[in-house]
Amino acid sequence: MAKIQMKTPLVEMDGDEMTRVLWGWIKDTLLTPYVDLNTEYYDLGLKHREETKDQVTIDSAEATKKYGVAVKCATITPNAARVEEYGLSQMWKSPNGTIRAALDGTVFRTPIIVKGVEPYIPTWTKPITIARHAYGDIYKNTEMQVPQGCKAELVVTDKDGNEKRELIHDFTRSDGIIQGVHNLDVSIAGFARACLNYGLDQKKDVWFATKDTISKKYDHRFKDIFQEIYDNEYRERYEAAGITYFYTLIDDAVARVIRSNGGYIWACKNYDGDVMSDMVSTAYGSLAMMTSVLVSPDGLYEYEAAHGTVQRHYYKYLKGEETSTNSVATIFAWSGALRKRGELDGSKELMDFADKLEKATIQTIEDGVMTGDLFLISKLENKKKVDSKTFLDEIKLRLDGLMG
Ligand code: NAP
Ligand code: MG
Repeated sequence: MAKIQMKTPLVEMDGDEMTRVLWGWIKDTLLTPYVDLNTEYYDLGLKHREETKDQVTIDSAEATKKYGVAVKCATITPNAARVEEYGLSQMWKSPNGTIRAALDGTVFRTPIIVKGVEPYIPTWTKPITIARHAYGDIYKNTEMQVPQGCKAELVVTDKDGNEKRELIHDFTRSDGIIQGVHNLDVSIAGFARACLNYGLDQKKDVWFATKDTISKKYDHRFKDIFQEIYDNEYRERYEAAGITYFYTLIDDAVARVIRSNGGYIWACKNYDGDVMSDMVSTAYGSLAMMTSVLVSPDGLYEYEAAHGTVQRHYYKYLKGEETSTNSVATIFAWSGALRKRGELDGSKELMDFADKLEKATIQTIEDGVMTGDLFLISKLENKKKVDSKTFLDEIKLRLDGLMG
């Protein structure tokens, strides 16, 4: 059978530890036998980031701007222990943070749903995708402790030196605390466009919520920017696609999410997204079944698994012990990227391959063949735990069937 050809290169960002091991196996077992992989390879493994003084991360982000689509393996974000372990000259920044800043992107996380692994909320039969605004609010705050007897004010100085003041609080009764936060219209607008674009891309409704009834200027600005952009740039396309943009209060949103069947994109302010993404991913069962895609306002895509490098499994692997590491989210990162590459290049063959790869992966688990993490939570009766490599071979068996 002739291999599927790729017109434009896909940016490939290799990573660390167990996920780096899986990366190679996935390519050998599930990709290169079927696709003539045309990738521009960047090694974001920590060793090579050190060797290049992290230039490789910047280069990989630039390549994504050039080609439009990237697929990324999980990478180590160095801490003090890693500086020692890898003999680093610096505590390099999180590659994900660097890439996100370069692309001005928003991260969308979506669970992969399989029979046997039931969400804690039984009505959630379709995935809920969470988008977190990754700029500002309390994550770029200034805080102070304020002694009793002090008065705290908000002061804004314009470029001519004129001051505008508002009282925050007169601390007559006790010591206290204050916090200053900000956001930027351009960042909120970029977030809104990334979410509304992704809604069109996925043919899914977009929900957004803030506390605008209490925060009449700050949160209200978020609400207004979203609404303006939706009305001026998206409404027609949404109506034509039969999808909706829906705004409500954050409390109402939370209540509706719990009662819903899923199947929409939930755009969250920074803090809401931080908290809700952990709740939603836990409720769907397993972090190893969560995909993640970074989307920029101008339509660049970077696909990855939401989990990390699975360090504990890697040390077992290095000792020659058997591992049963779940490769599903990493496989879906590849299928997502290949499908998008196919879509942009007009290659139906590549898009079909991505569909079949996902189908074969889900079929394998629903046939009862799974890695240890799923084995613990699957309600299937005839389930079998397999090692990391056997799991990929089992997917290949089914993929061969689908490919004819
Ligand atoms: P982790 O790699 O996500 O793993 C935490 C634990 O979750 C594992 O020990 C394992 O539990 C379970 N797990 C996660 N993914 C799994 C999979 N695919 N299959 C089976 N079990 C899985 O998080 P971490 O250990 O906290 O972080 C390790 C490294 O990853 C860190 O250096 C961190 O900086 C990095 N990280 C990178 C990214 C990214 O690149 N996007 C994201 C998060 C973390 P058991 O050990 O109980 O089996
Ligand atoms: Mg969190």
